[in-house]
Amino acid sequence: MDDVIPAPLVPRVPVAGGAGAFPVHRIYCVGRNYVEHAIEMGHTGREAPFFFMKPADAVLVVADGQAGELPYPPLTSNLHHELELVVAIGKGGRDIAPADALAHVWGYAVGLDMTRRDLQNEMKKQGRPWCIGKAFEASAPIGPITPAAAVPGIHDAAIELRVNGELRQSSRTGKLIWSVAEVIAHLSAAWTLAPGDLIFSGTPEGVGAVVAGDRLEGRIDGLSPLQLQVVA
Ligand code: MN
Repeated sequence: MDDVIPAPLVPRVPVAGGAGAFPVHRIYCVGRNYVEHAIEMGHTGREAPFFFMKPADAVLVVADGQAGELPYPPLTSNLHHELELVVAIGKGGRDIAPADALAHVWGYAVGLDMTRRDLQNEMKKQGRPWCIGKAFEASAPIGPITPAAAVPGIHDAAIELRVNGELRQSSRTGKLIWSVAEVIAHLSAAWTLAPGDLIFSGTPEGVGAVVAGDRLEGRIDGLSPLQLQVVA
């Protein structure tokens, strides 16, 4: 049977070094997964990980060595950066044990969980879903994906975001409250993971606002950096 409208395109993230592309299935995000960020958001203590999602086409692909253009989204006056280690799932599954979880990872990338913080806060206050704060177009900028085998040090790597050259976020991936393996175990108890899924693993402290004209540079040791310019 023929499609009655053009089929939606599958977003594809380039693999670092030009070695192909990673088609995106779903985007999962982990909330409050670094202690100091949980504190700056008004929470304390270790809580079970919780998740939200962005649509696959929220991906903003930025090619290796290029600066992407991030359109300032509508309805907000408080667009926040959240720099995150992104996990790219190569092998699906459900009820994956933590000890088996890393075998499901294809690779890693630098990503930003862009957030309309004013809208998210309003939804929190009203007990409503976060979608309008988190799941808008281009809300998931991502750099090229590096194969897992090429970054053995990724689980305790420096993670840093600069805005206009000024250091805003600085931590280590080893400070994740729930490790990549534990996140995969928890996620796969609730959803069946599939090849092409991306997991934004949470942001360290130092989140803050950006405005049109700002230049963002996100780095995680061992991965291709993510460079963006916010445009009106
Ligand atoms: Mn986040």
